[in-house]
Amino acid sequence: METADVVIIGSGIVGSSVAYHLAQQGCTNVLVIEREAHQGKGSTGKSMGGVRAQFSTPVNIQMSKYSIDFFSKFDEVIGHPADYRAHGYLFCATNQNHLAYLKANRERQNALGVTNVEWVTAEDIVKMVPQLRADDILGGTFCPTDGFVDPHSVMMGFMLNAREKGARLWLDTEVTGIEVENDQIKTVNTSRGSISTRIVVNAAGAWAAKIAEMAGAELPVEPLRRQLVPTEPFDQLPQRFPMVIDMSTGFHFRREGKGILLAWNDPKETPGFKTEFDTTFVEKILTRAASRVPVLAEAGVNPRRAWAGLYEMTPDHHAIIGPAPTVEGLYFVNGFSGHGVMHSPASGRVAADLILNGHSNLIDATQLGVERFKEGKLLEETAIL
Ligand SMILES: Cc1cc2nc3c(=O)[nH]c(=O)nc-3n(C[C@H](O)[C@H](O)[C@H](O)COP(=O)(O)OP(=O)(O)OC[C@H]3O[C@@H](n4cnc5c(N)ncnc54)[C@H](O)[C@@H]3O)c2cc1C
Repeated sequence: METADVVIIGSGIVGSSVAYHLAQQGCTNVLVIEREAHQGKGSTGKSMGGVRAQFSTPVNIQMSKYSIDFFSKFDEVIGHPADYRAHGYLFCATNQNHLAYLKANRERQNALGVTNVEWVTAEDIVKMVPQLRADDILGGTFCPTDGFVDPHSVMMGFMLNAREKGARLWLDTEVTGIEVENDQIKTVNTSRGSISTRIVVNAAGAWAAKIAEMAGAELPVEPLRRQLVPTEPFDQLPQRFPMVIDMSTGFHFRREGKGILLAWNDPKETPGFKTEFDTTFVEKILTRAASRVPVLAEAGVNPRRAWAGLYEMTPDHHAIIGPAPTVEGLYFVNGFSGHGVMHSPASGRVAADLILNGHSNLIDATQLGVERFKEGKLLEETAIL
């Protein structure tokens, strides 16, 4: 039978980062299993690629800080481009609650070493993006090192580097079962045969609850559809501008090549494995877009170029990273709730630390353990995009 020190299920950006960080720390007998013929067919290939340190909870701020620093050195360290573009994130507040929220976040970010989040006035905002309707904007925050990466390229970089160090990747291979003996991981069964191992990393994204169930463990991760709409080439907005977040509706947008990428999370969306794009979404998002950026009413949209993907949601919108309490050798790196790309460097590092050393110096990982849901120790992040 095939053997591996660690089997990682899922080769998206998270599984790839875990493989890289394990190999980097000397654990190279790692086998990554992916059911698709290519990497990136899950949520990673559907992502908007946004990275930001502007979060509200300390653990998310810490994960972002480490990750953005990593992205800034990625090409050199990994030997593959991340295409990190530090164009910033600009939050636009339209009421006093938004302002108070941004102020409290900024203090927390500052205390944790993210010292470059600037307080901006409505006038500053209009200077950055003159096409915004700003009559109701009261101010906001801007962090110049927030920005974008190419999620596919980051994923490939992590995996190529891990494979150079000895990790293996089996594509076109579905995990069909996990055998546990005396509460300890024993075998992973796949469509290509069985693998004997004592450690399994669940990096199966939106499908992670099913993998946990195979080992008899519980994991509160639910799929939730998110849809993105690119415009046709559009030159009535600057060539370079930050990700802009209209806090009054949650509508946000950024430049993507010659066009603009429009995003809005419909609060009426319900959980489920829905990956088809709903064409009625175009009108909903364009209404919000034109309300904040009137020139966007003139943008062309081809619904066939729009797409949908899955967020992997947890009840408190924070990741679950750490060992499964009831199955020895099973580790979760799941439930990123829409932040899996930006947090991929930190999550791979923390997972590798926990597997190899039992603790991580990067963050207090116990707060991300799955036990928090049973113990009622939920973390609440409100800055979810
Ligand atoms: C529209 C949209 C926009 C987003 N925008 C952002 C953003 O701006 N910034 C950000 O940080 N995040 C964003 N996200 C979230 C981000 O894409 C995810 O959090 C991240 O990609 C999760 O990576 P992953 O590797 O855990 O999951 P995935 O990329 O989904 O990888 C999981 C892999 O597991 C495989 N798998 C599942 N079951 C099995 C099995 N039984 N056997 C073998 N393989 C299996 C799947 O095929 C898949 O390849 C966005 C998501 C969407 C949908």
